[in-house]
Amino acid sequence: MDLVVVFPNSGELEKARTLLAASGLCGQSITVAPALVTDSPGLSAIQQAAPRITIAGWTDYRPSACPEPVRATFAEDVFGEASIMFFGPCMADESKVRLIAHLSGDAGPALPYLNAEMRQACYNPAGPTLTFMEGYRLATIYPRRVALGKADDIVDACRVLEDLRRRVNQVWARRASITPSSEMRAKPPMLEVYKRLPRTNCGACGEATCMSFAAKLWMGDGKLSRCVPVFGGDYKHLRGALAEVCAALGVWDVEPGS
Ligand code: SF4
Repeated sequence: MDLVVVFPNSGELEKARTLLAASGLCGQSITVAPALVTDSPGLSAIQQAAPRITIAGWTDYRPSACPEPVRATFAEDVFGEASIMFFGPCMADESKVRLIAHLSGDAGPALPYLNAEMRQACYNPAGPTLTFMEGYRLATIYPRRVALGKADDIVDACRVLEDLRRRVNQVWARRASITPSSEMRAKPPMLEVYKRLPRTNCGACGEATCMSFAAKLWMGDGKLSRCVPVFGGDYKHLRGALAEVCAALGVWDVEPGS
């Protein structure tokens, strides 16, 4: 099985390429991102080189049907470079990928202008965050990072990142003609909360099912930390994905990363 391994920057990619070439292992770069396609021995060699080589993550490799994005130029780029700091299978759908990218710019000032134009988006001024469905993908823009779930593959994820960069910069360039809005008009679908819960119906939160707990969160009537398996049990790996969707709902009552 081929694997795609993603790095935060081209420097880490080059270190991995050098390592694989010296070891006689396969490692084919892809053009859209600092990433390469390798196999299990190649991934093991890269992982064993940590902390000398930093990786953002990896998934099974599937050739992409998505055209590679073309990077646009802007007189003022408030979004900046997106460095992928986390990459892996999506918790809501393991056939898809999830990533977190850190931005070299600051998209925060542009979010109320985007919110004014994207009526289907969920703006949380306390974050601030702007969350919306990009087709079936769930995207959240923070001032200095982007979280993206259910992208098809690394090429599709990079296409969405470039699309978000264009939207942020284009709306920022037109901001003099837009009345910014801090109104929260929409929410991410409740199903997107449910898909990121353990779905074991253990009852530890006081609800009979994960679906009823998701409904409470969605209505703003619940504390995420009551899901014991995520905050004290075997499902801690779901915290990040839950944080992204619950930040948009304003029901994230636990500090991210805790
Ligand atoms: S504690 Fe978590 S896993 Fe258990 S029923 Fe509640 S939401 Fe589901």
